[in-house]
Amino acid sequence: MMIQNKKIAIVGGGPGGLTLARLLQLKGADVKVYERDINKDVRVQGGALDLHAESGLAALKKAGLMDAFKANYRPGADKIRITDNQAKIHLDQHTEESTETFGHKNHRPEIDRGPLREILLSSLQPDTVVWDSRIVSIEPIQSAWKLVFENGSSTVADLVIGADGANSRIRPFVTDIKPFWTGITMLEGSIKDAEKTAPIIHKLLKGGKIFALGNEKTLIVSSKGDGSFGFATACKTSEFWYKKSGMDFTDNTQVLAWFKKEFSEWGSIWWELFSNEKTLFIPRPQYCMPLDQKWEAKSNITLIGDAAHWMPPFAGEGVNMAMLDALELSESLTDQALDNTQTAIANYEKQMFARFAKIGQATLFNTEWMHKPKALENMLTMFSRNILKQATFIGKMWASVTLIPLIRKAVGLSPGQNALT
Ligand SMILES: Cc1cc2nc3c(=O)[nH]c(=O)nc-3n(C[C@H](O)[C@H](O)[C@H](O)COP(=O)(O)OP(=O)(O)OC[C@H]3O[C@@H](n4cnc5c(N)ncnc54)[C@H](O)[C@@H]3O)c2cc1C
Repeated sequence: MMIQNKKIAIVGGGPGGLTLARLLQLKGADVKVYERDINKDVRVQGGALDLHAESGLAALKKAGLMDAFKANYRPGADKIRITDNQAKIHLDQHTEESTETFGHKNHRPEIDRGPLREILLSSLQPDTVVWDSRIVSIEPIQSAWKLVFENGSSTVADLVIGADGANSRIRPFVTDIKPFWTGITMLEGSIKDAEKTAPIIHKLLKGGKIFALGNEKTLIVSSKGDGSFGFATACKTSEFWYKKSGMDFTDNTQVLAWFKKEFSEWGSIWWELFSNEKTLFIPRPQYCMPLDQKWEAKSNITLIGDAAHWMPPFAGEGVNMAMLDALELSESLTDQALDNTQTAIANYEKQMFARFAKIGQATLFNTEWMHKPKALENMLTMFSRNILKQATFIGKMWASVTLIPLIRKAVGLSPGQNALT
């Protein structure tokens, strides 16, 4: 095996990095995951994720973790309510019977990020994850890499895989291609004990998802199994709005005042989301890697997940792509037919580039379209025309790139027309 006797360092213990560690350990590889979090509980994990049969679930299946997934997923959490900016419900999947089952290509079961992380962590050999290991730099040493951590320690690895997310420290050692600005900033928050602290939205949410659209803005709310929920606004801003605004995102009164002004056409029902002083708000400016990105494969370093192909989350594909990268890379690195690690990395990257070109296109299309006037009307038109008969969640329909020309026609966008410019 080409990775036998090689030390593999995965930088970042998100869904991509942990899935890769599990898959490589099943093949007998010597793997460590270096994660900046000081322990597994330090960070609140974001909202629920729908995993797709051909990507996230395929990786879990290969990792032998489908039983654990089935014990932890949340049936019904994928049901959405599409509302307008006054929270009037225009489409309600809670009134529809779900007939989807595991194995069906359209089944997109939801799992919270916390339990998904737990499943992956507990599947790894003891001490695989080295916590409190924020990478600050890496240096080539002959054919290996020296990894230097913020805590003063360092280690050497033969093969480095950057799974360290959107602002990867590893990416510059693989490529100098930079992401571009999409024109949208999201503001993410979460609310604990939602039944008590945000009872109106909690009731509206009904254990599923709310997708609210209006005035070229969106608001997504997503329930979690622990009684909390996550939410994110999205609207057009300048690139560095989060800095230039001078807002203190730790002060919910400032954030509420901003919401009231920026989302002034939206109903006061939403204010509840911004009224809890314990809510932690995180501004997330949305960038995307160029869809045609390509680089020459290296022999001892590569990227997976957001580090490789950061994109906005409006197709619900980020985690799924990260886990599929992990699957494809682990298969390539253990493929007896491939001569060496450079060929294996090239084989993986070729698949990853092609996949991202399509999924990234669908994602960008969603990003622009959902922040155009009449987004709600257009989405409802599409549902009523039954173009997307099987859809159970926005991501599912948007991810289908073959539908793009049809959707463009339905919503009146000409080819190449970009709502964000
Ligand atoms: C608001 C929002 C909603 C989203 N909704 C969805 C959705 O519904 N479905 C979906 O599929 N995707 C969604 N996404 C996208 C998804 O979260 C990402 O695509 C996915 O998490 C990428 O996984 P990853 O493992 O590549 O990176 P990440 O999940 O970002 O993990 C990276 C890991 O690396 C660690 N790390 C970072 N820097 C360092 C360093 N220097 N040293 C060591 N460790 C480091 C981090 O702590 C983290 O644990 C959403 C994103 C956002 C912002």
